[in-house]
Amino acid sequence: NAISESIVYKSHNAFNRKYPLPVGALQSIARTHAEQKELSSQLSMKRHLRYTLGDRIRITKDSAEKQTLLGEAKTMKAEITRLEESLAAVEETLLNLSLQLPNDTHPDAPIGPEDAATILSTHGPPPMPSSAERDHTEVGRALGLFDFESAAVVTGSSWYYLLGEAALLESALTNYAISIALKHGFKFVTTPDIVREDIASRCGFQPRDQQSGNPTSQTYFITDSHPELVLSGTAEIPLAGMFANRIFPENTLPMKVVGLGRAFRAEAGSRGADTRGLYRVHQFTKVELFAVCEDDDSERTMEEFRRVQTEILKGLGIPFRVLDMPTEELGASAFRKYDMEAWMPGRGRWGEISSTSNCTDYQARRLHIRYRRAAAHQSSAIKPPTHGSQSATAFAHTVNGTAAAIPRLILALVENGARFDEEGKVVGLDLPSTLKPYWLAPSAIVRW
Ligand code: AMP
Repeated sequence: NAISESIVYKSHNAFNRKYPLPVGALQSIARTHAEQKELSSQLSMKRHLRYTLGDRIRITKDSAEKQTLLGEAKTMKAEITRLEESLAAVEETLLNLSLQLPNDTHPDAPIGPEDAATILSTHGPPPMPSSAERDHTEVGRALGLFDFESAAVVTGSSWYYLLGEAALLESALTNYAISIALKHGFKFVTTPDIVREDIASRCGFQPRDQQSGNPTSQTYFITDSHPELVLSGTAEIPLAGMFANRIFPENTLPMKVVGLGRAFRAEAGSRGADTRGLYRVHQFTKVELFAVCEDDDSERTMEEFRRVQTEILKGLGIPFRVLDMPTEELGASAFRKYDMEAWMPGRGRWGEISSTSNCTDYQARRLHIRYRRAAAHQSSAIKPPTHGSQSATAFAHTVNGTAAAIPRLILALVENGARFDEEGKVVGLDLPSTLKPYWLAPSAIVRW
């Protein structure tokens, strides 16, 4: 039947995504789902009976019969309350169980690990040859762009100061990316960078290992004073949370926002070859695109995000490519994910600079983000008062994407734009003129 087919799909899907499902999770979900269906049909039946009982009480002229019926109505009311409570408890259990499942996967997503990604398009100038002289930390040292040493004293390794032109570059890139998003109808918001752990989980980020309760390697906790709070790893979390527990009229969708926040990532154990420089750091400024849309509009919205991201990166004049990411890279929430990688000649490889994910209803179900369909779109049949895609209110879809993750953009611009004299000494930076309107101060080393 449909439930067992769904279980087969979900376990196959989790396997393809290398997603750790707790033992027996799918069976528990199926069992609880059956319980929920049974309780909600009992509840509708009782509500209907109570309604007809009300009619009979109103109509009857016989006072003895009225008393009996009133007694029945009282009992019925108590039963309905009991059923409502049981249903709420079962729905809570179902939500908690299904929080353990990843999203479904787009049928076109490649299956496998990172290197199974499909290249969808390549843009910008041809990649220049690899060259150790272009390494951004070397160029940065020569031009005084970064201070990793002071950051190591003040905070620790993988923290940084951006100095002079690098700091100017951060503000220029931020405003440049925001301005392109604004041109495409996104509304600008600034976000809290500290969020409830529960909101992060509902977005698909699991700050703790589910079995042990221990923090995972990505998240910083604010332990003593506020154990329920974490530092947000991406503005996607506060942006998604902004829409939680709301029902939007259909004609207000899609709602598109561009958020500016700081992303914090503990990155324990995941730094590997990226221990130097700006590639993998613990804090970074990120301009994030986010949209809430109708449930049949997320693929189009995702393509729109891709166009906005492509416009932002094309304007920077660096070589980059767009990848359709394979199943093992989709995490918990993405139905489909495109990454963009820039050529980084100092590192001698392509590096991820941007990402966009269609989360379909994964986050919306967990955050209760719904929309009300316009009457014309509803069929005339009587609808059950449930949520779900067939009812008058439906779960929305959410899409997120990076407009600008600053340190890696700085890295790519510095490695591609470093200017050398005849002796091979770094003398300055060639930057794209698209950034000039956003540049706050004159500079001796920057050439537009
Ligand atoms: P994600 O939210 O993980 O998809 O990351 C979005 C973008 O942020 C990536 O494409 C990178 O450009 C950037 N990014 C992710 N993690 C880091 C990090 N630890 N340090 C610097 N940039 C990062």
